[in-house]
Amino acid sequence: MREQQNYRAAIYCRLSSEDGADHESMSIGNQRALLTEYVEKQGWEVVDTYIDDGFSGTNFDRPGFQRMIADIEKGRINLVITKDLSRLGRNYIMCGQYTEIYFPERHVRYIALNDGVDTLNQTSSMDITPFKHILNDMYAKDISTKIKSTLHTKARRGEYLGALDPYGYLRHPDDKHKLIINEETAPIVRRIFEMSAAGMGSRSICTVLNDEGILSPAEYTRFRKHDPTKDGEFVRKRFWCQTYLRSILKNEMYVGCMVQGRQYTPSYRSKKREPVPKEDWIVVPDMHEPIVTRELFDEAQKKMQARKKVIKPLDEPRLFSGQFYCEACGTAMRQHTTGNGKYTYFICGKHHAIGKLACSSHYINYDIFYQVIQEDIRRNAKLFSEDSEQAAKKLMELKCADEQKQAAKMKRDLTSAKKRLADLDVKLKRAYEDNMNGKLPDHIFSMFIADYDAERAGLRSSISDMEKALEKVRDAKSDIDRFAALIKKYTSFEELDRFMLNELIDRITIYETPGMGRNRIGKEKTITIYYKFVGAIQ
Ligand SMILES: [Zn+2]
Repeated sequence: MREQQNYRAAIYCRLSSEDGADHESMSIGNQRALLTEYVEKQGWEVVDTYIDDGFSGTNFDRPGFQRMIADIEKGRINLVITKDLSRLGRNYIMCGQYTEIYFPERHVRYIALNDGVDTLNQTSSMDITPFKHILNDMYAKDISTKIKSTLHTKARRGEYLGALDPYGYLRHPDDKHKLIINEETAPIVRRIFEMSAAGMGSRSICTVLNDEGILSPAEYTRFRKHDPTKDGEFVRKRFWCQTYLRSILKNEMYVGCMVQGRQYTPSYRSKKREPVPKEDWIVVPDMHEPIVTRELFDEAQKKMQARKKVIKPLDEPRLFSGQFYCEACGTAMRQHTTGNGKYTYFICGKHHAIGKLACSSHYINYDIFYQVIQEDIRRNAKLFSEDSEQAAKKLMELKCADEQKQAAKMKRDLTSAKKRLADLDVKLKRAYEDNMNGKLPDHIFSMFIADYDAERAGLRSSISDMEKALEKVRDAKSDIDRFAALIKKYTSFEELDRFMLNELIDRITIYETPGMGRNRIGKEKTITIYYKFVGAIQ
């Protein structure tokens, strides 16, 4: 990298709990003062100071850092300075990415002041930089292990460690590690167990709760934070779903046990959480008042087990899987078979999971659906094989009618606009020479300039608009050609198969006019086929 005089510097400061005992000398104020003084002494400009107070160095998901990256992308900064390497980060793979690849590629000089790192002087201490990154990383790992083991001890003592109130309970106002009954939601938990013990399936229970307007746990949390004077009227957005309901039914917290450690973070570098096998959970009995009795809990488990259906594995993927979606909610349509394999139909996956409050059924009989798709492919294949040119022309009109109609005129306009632009440049040059020779007074010359500028800007923007529109016509033309070549392969076929569906179709959607009955197709239900390259043709 070339040495340059005018650096636009970014000062980056970071502090988090993992910095431990060294906290004072590390404080944000200290980092900032030290770096500002240094940058100013060099005579460089400080563009901005980016601060992440309380953010771990194990990842780069930090607001200050991200804002700095955005400014680098905008070209506002060409130098980044931190107190030492560990301020940049404690993850040696990612740190290396930044210091060795990202910064150099964007011509950004990086300095870690106290570590003597400077990307401008590649030869100096840069060779040991990777080792420093590794040491910083090991330090973070050590701290992470320490924090984990403290949490583990607390969990084994039966202390509640969650950051939110678990559904049915509240954290004790004086001791947030203890739970007390939430009189609002505990009766709902009890009802859920009663309904399950009475043999109701989780889907029916969800429907009952949703129909009665009982807020799901996530919505309840949102509701409690809702301030009508600021946020307006509360609108229910999400509903009870089977997954969450089952997790309540299986949770021994409701018989008074403290159950924790059900998830863990596999690496101190990531935020991802993974499930822990049940035998390794930390369960401490009799830690708080139960909401349901052990008998009711066990009965609910028994009924749930009994209802568990044996799901037959599919030999091969279903014909339309991954291609057919509900237009209203975007969920994949679910295929069902009833009456011993006699009737097969599709319904919206969200409707199936949650009920009619979430989405209407979008019911369609499998055979009818199959026929619609088969006929549409046949019809288009016929059109394109009989008169490809005519079919392409029709499709072109559908895809970009306006642009196409104007294409001829646009081409002429474009030529004349380009010519006018060239003329303007000649005129400007002449006026400039006249002005230099004293033939054209300054004030008149500057008036000319202003006029030329305005006209030139106008011409440039309309040229770019016209070029874009013409390009769209050209793109549409080549897309249609590609589609024509594809569809012509299917002028005669017997049955639909997955290969041809994948080759021809991006996705299929069904739209249902709200409030219309089932089993009908036509005005009430619309199937839209989005073909490859050209989208919907209707
Ligand atoms: Zn839907």
